[in-house]
Amino acid sequence: MGVPKKKSSKSRSRRVRAANMKLDLPGLTICSNCGTKKLPHRVCLKCGFYKGRVVIDVERFSYKYKYM
Ligand SMILES: [Zn+2]
Repeated sequence: MGVPKKKSSKSRSRRVRAANMKLDLPGLTICSNCGTKKLPHRVCLKCGFYKGRVVIDVERFSYKYKYM
């Protein structure tokens, strides 16, 4: 079994650990109807479009999705 020749410094250990801590953004696509960013394979919550047609009534659902 391989044995480390030198003790790795705190700085090195922390650097190596920190390399795995990066958060990444969710993948976003552009709505083909209104052009806002939306999650892929989901209805656009701005205009209610999915696959080229209106799927949901945005006025009715907007109170639930104020964060968008
Ligand atoms: Zn849209």
